[in-house]
Order: sequence, then structure tokens, then C-alpha cells
Amino acid sequence: LQPGDLLDEHSARITDPRRLKHLHEVHQAQPGDELTLGLADGNIGRGRLTALDRHQACFALDALSQAPPPALDIELVLALPRPRMLARSLEHVTALGVKHITLLHSRRVEKSYWQSPELDPEKIRRHLLLGLEQARDTRTPRVILEPRFKPFLEDRLPARLANREGLLAHPGMDAACPRGLASPALLIVGPEGGFVPYEVEQLLAAGCRGIQLGERILRVETAVVALLARLSPL
Ligand code: SAM
Repeated sequence: LQPGDLLDEHSARITDPRRLKHLHEVHQAQPGDELTLGLADGNIGRGRLTALDRHQACFALDALSQAPPPALDIELVLALPRPRMLARSLEHVTALGVKHITLLHSRRVEKSYWQSPELDPEKIRRHLLLGLEQARDTRTPRVILEPRFKPFLEDRLPARLANREGLLAHPGMDAACPRGLASPALLIVGPEGGFVPYEVEQLLAAGCRGIQLGERILRVETAVVALLARLSPL
């Protein structure tokens, strides 16, 4: 449920066609069904479907109080991928539990990507919601745009590395990607063409540790999932 779906404390109504379709086709929901409902603001609870047709779904809500599944304490810094790949990457990393995503410019990010309609906040939110719904999570990740590399490197990165380890994923680095991190981390993933040597040097000089996933070079959307799955404590 999104905050606008709430009619009052005890009832909600969905009219969004995509979610109605999901209720009809994926859940094959019927009036009377008991459902676990998540609100994109961090609450989750039980509800009963009281009416369902092609235009609306109405719910009676119990108290919204259960905690959502634990988040992953990894902040992701992702060089802005091409729009189609951005959409899928946002959905996947959200489903894996990332709560802080920075989209970063770098030399091999095409400037036109920053003009993409996929960066519209509403579109970004839609991709995040797909990931949240998939994982039965309810806390929407924060997404920050960093359209310039140098200010991020010099002004923002040092503060972010004060209380978490920086991990730079780059093919050919000395260390293998660790399994199951015990402490908070900031994971940096490059663009489709990779970071240029100068950027790699700068990120390592800023205190990041270089890590790699072996000799297979993965597409960005595959690499983020493989890295997060391996770093995840589960
Ligand atoms: N030709 C580029 C290079 O050598 O850097 C390939 C870039 S890869 C398609 C896109 C990003 O995914 C990389 O910048 C890196 O962050 C991550 N990645 C993909 N495969 C990787 C691997 N085997 N080890 C570490 N990172 C990888």
C-alpha cells in the first residue's frame, strides 16, 4: 500500500491498475482473503480484502505493526547505467535490502543518461516499490543523484567512509569479494565500460578496498546482484 491508499486507520483502497492486475493475476485474490500488507513508509500488517473488481480493491486493516525484514547494511554507489538497466538494477538491489543508493557520474557514463525519463523521481519510486513488494519489505530506499564525480570523491565520500568500509568492485583487483560482511560497507560499482584507471586510483587513494568477482566480467545489473548476494550476511 502507498500512503495515499489509506482511507483511515482501518481501511484502504487500491485503484492503481498495475497493482490491481497483480492482485487479480498473481495472487488470484478473492474478497475475504487475508493478506499481509506493506506500507512503503516502514509498516506492515494484516488485512482482509473486502471488495475487488477491475477498478478497485478495498481492505479492512488490522493494526499495522510488524517489523519488515531486516535491511542490508550496505550503501550502494552505482555509476549511472543505461536507463533500461537502471530500472532493473534499482528493483533488484531494493529486493536484496539496500536502503541507500547513490547514482554517480563517471567518465564512461554517457552524459545523455542523466537526461533520461527513468530518473524522474516517480519512475525511480516505481522501480523501488517493485523491489520492496517482491521482498515483502516496506522501507523505501533513499536514492541520491551525483551527476559529478569529483565533488562526490572529494566532498561526500570521506564522510561516508568514516563509519563504513569502502569496497570498490573492479575486475582484476587483488582481493576476492568477501563473503558475508560483518560490518557496514559502501559498495562502489562501475559503469558498463568500467571505471577509467584514474578513477580507480582516486577511489583507492580515498581509502576504498579493491575487490573482484573472478575472471568473468559481468554486466552491471548482474554484478550488483552477485556482489550484494555474496556480501550479504545471510
Ligand atoms: N570492461 C570493464 C572493466 O574491465 O572494468 C567492464 C565493466 S563491467 C561490465 C561493469 C562493472 O561491474 C564494473 O565496473 C565492476 O564494478 C562490476 N564488475 C563486473 N564484473 C566484475 C568482476 N568480475 N569483478 C569485479 N567487478 C566486476
